[in-house]
Amino acid sequence: MQIAFIGVGNMGGGMALNLVNAGHDVRAFDLSPEARGRVTAGGATAATSATDAATDADAIVTMLPAGHHVRAAYEGTLFAAARPDAILIDCSTIDVATARELGEAAATRGLAMVDAPVSGGTAAADAGTLTFMVGGPQSAFAQARPILEQMGKAVIHAGGPGMGQAAKICNNMILGATMVATAEAFVLAEKLGLDAQTFFDISSKASGQSWSMTSYCPVPGPVPTSPANRDYAGGFAAALMLKDLKLAAEAASTAGASTPMGASAQSLYQLLVNNSGGSDDFSSIIRLLRG
Ligand code: NAD
Repeated sequence: MQIAFIGVGNMGGGMALNLVNAGHDVRAFDLSPEARGRVTAGGATAATSATDAATDADAIVTMLPAGHHVRAAYEGTLFAAARPDAILIDCSTIDVATARELGEAAATRGLAMVDAPVSGGTAAADAGTLTFMVGGPQSAFAQARPILEQMGKAVIHAGGPGMGQAAKICNNMILGATMVATAEAFVLAEKLGLDAQTFFDISSKASGQSWSMTSYCPVPGPVPTSPANRDYAGGFAAALMLKDLKLAAEAASTAGASTPMGASAQSLYQLLVNNSGGSDDFSSIIRLLRG
């Protein structure tokens, strides 16, 4: 297939290269020459603009920073440049309202579009092991699925337009809140004189167990692969967790849902990002809680 890939940064770069490796003709466009350089070195063709990438493409994939970039890309050029039978796939993490509106605008134009945000960081993007949560009509999902499968290990249809984003922010709101709770508990255990490994051995097999504890344990030792073992470098940046918690709060306000734990996690991550810049893994919230 001929695939246009718009936004080949930290995540999109690895994803585009997986499509190249699967045998597709990938035409990549990014505002950053460094980002373009990485994918052209891996076998993609550099496009001169988003329109240049999208013209005649069977599929258009976008992986951009935020909702306003995605809206500008589709309303500004991609809707007009897309072939009528192309599938449009936005993998960026953006607000539910924009995703819904763009999905509906595509349908009005007779175009097939899905929102397909991902779970998994840059390592999963490079390895092709992302999880995709997909919103859009069943027929658009069926068209997008084989392409997404070449970049991920799981592709799940969440419902109509915007429901991929809804699933992503609800999931990450749980993740943010459980990480804060897990880090708080490790700090309390420390202060009570309870050894961290012993606490982990008990809680990871008891009702305190969660992904935050068993995959990204916020203290070094119990889970050797967790970012805590490398001073919180890499992993899922605290700034991105804050972004997702803000998107969840925005969606909760629009939907009239009460999310006090999400709000509490958001204010703590805001403090962490203000204090540290937010590039460390989100499990570094434990530093803030230690005081
Ligand atoms: P990034 O900043 O590395 O990449 C975004 C790229 O988009 C940049 O290279 C930028 O130059 C390019 N860009 C911006 N506007 C553009 C435009 N108009 N036309 C063409 N290119 C444009 O960000 P990232 O880490 O790759 O994240 C991308 C998306 O994936 C975000 O929505 C983020 O929330 C989401 N996400 C990231 C991670 C992660 O661990 N990094 C994990 C899950 C989801």
